[in-house]
Amino acid sequence: MDANAGNDRPRNRIVVLGSTGSIGTSTLDVAAHLPGRIEVVGISGHSRIDLLLEQAHEVRPRFVCLTDPTVSLDPSLLPTGCELLRGADGIARMVTDPGVDTVVSAIVGAAGLEGTWAALEAGKTVAVANKETLVLAGQLVTELAARTGGRLLPVDSEHSAIFQAIQGASIREVERVVLTGSGGPFRGKTIADLEKVTVEQALKHPTWSMGRKITIDSATLMNKALEVIEARWLFGLPAERIDVIIHPQSIIHSFVEFRDGAVLAQLSPPDMRLPIQYALTYPERLPGPARKLAWRDLSAWHFEQPDHETFPSLQLGYEVARRGGTCGAVLNAANEVAVSRFLAGELSFLDIPRACRAALDQHDYDPRPTLAELAACDRWARQEASRWINRTHRTVRIS
Ligand code: NDP
Ligand code: MG
Repeated sequence: MDANAGNDRPRNRIVVLGSTGSIGTSTLDVAAHLPGRIEVVGISGHSRIDLLLEQAHEVRPRFVCLTDPTVSLDPSLLPTGCELLRGADGIARMVTDPGVDTVVSAIVGAAGLEGTWAALEAGKTVAVANKETLVLAGQLVTELAARTGGRLLPVDSEHSAIFQAIQGASIREVERVVLTGSGGPFRGKTIADLEKVTVEQALKHPTWSMGRKITIDSATLMNKALEVIEARWLFGLPAERIDVIIHPQSIIHSFVEFRDGAVLAQLSPPDMRLPIQYALTYPERLPGPARKLAWRDLSAWHFEQPDHETFPSLQLGYEVARRGGTCGAVLNAANEVAVSRFLAGELSFLDIPRACRAALDQHDYDPRPTLAELAACDRWARQEASRWINRTHRTVRIS
């Protein structure tokens, strides 16, 4: 088959929110390999203007949206026929355009919610990388999709693996899903080992190359916690039926155990271009740029149980997946603040989950919040986490 196989199908016209990031650039790479199947209609970036401009000239989309209000871009630098849009209004304009089929949600953090929401309101398909949206507002987002006929397709590798493994089956036949995680750079370490961890050490992920925020989330295992909540909403499974297992090689991207005891898994090298492509060509599989397994080099795959004492973040994820309501918004916001303070050298690594625990404990729980109430919760939790971080005298300067 050639790279343009599938030309008989209509092209998937996509908007890439967060095109300048790790998932965004991988998405443009997938699109470049499948010109007959994927057409990039719009892209958005926040601060990396040079890269956004470079992408605009390479891809020649109809829309380019710049979201950071503090930076400017001379529209005459864009290729002809390309319209410059700004901020949340610009995102909404692009994702609701009748000439768009799928929106790739690859902005990092709660900032990704608006674009996903607007796309689903317009009944579009959303390829979701931005797990924070589902952590923060999973219940409302999935209800919105059900109401409008909008569709959520997973991009996160574990959730894509589960989605691939359940094709042809009903979710009612699933006994449990088991999310795999590499364990991050500090797998096997003790709490004492982690007292003085530096930003540089935490950013050295053993298997995946990703943006800074998710790389820190992977080091604390908060990423797996967020993924438990993401799976809870994407697949409608209760927390009790979502397990986590550590698999350092990052080849098996998750398991699905069915009611009869059969277990299916999806395997491939750690390369996000495969789950991104699957979400964009679903239900078809086409040749693409993702790396293939080097069968001759394979030897053993390992598994171990997560160390909940050293990495308490994971339990926070289970707690939030169980309680729902306002908990997701609080956990997500507190974690975003804590991670950015850690990256700025203003918080110790071990204090990241402690700041989140404190915000969850202090918050005024509501089991059925509206979107506006979740936004208020997000703001409150950011302030509360900042207060906690400023108050604790654990603040250390780490390079
Ligand atoms: P990056 O940090 O590499 O990219 C983030 C993107 O979001 C950039 O395009 C950035 O623009 C943009 N952005 C940042 N802040 C804002 C804002 N306030 N408003 C609008 N846009 C903003 O992150 P990743 O690509 O690694 O991750 C993106 C999402 O995908 C995250 O939610 C992550 O959890 C999820 N994910 C990522 C995986 C990966 O392998 N990287 C795997 C699975 C999920 P700019 O760079 O121009 O400032
Ligand atoms: Mg993942």
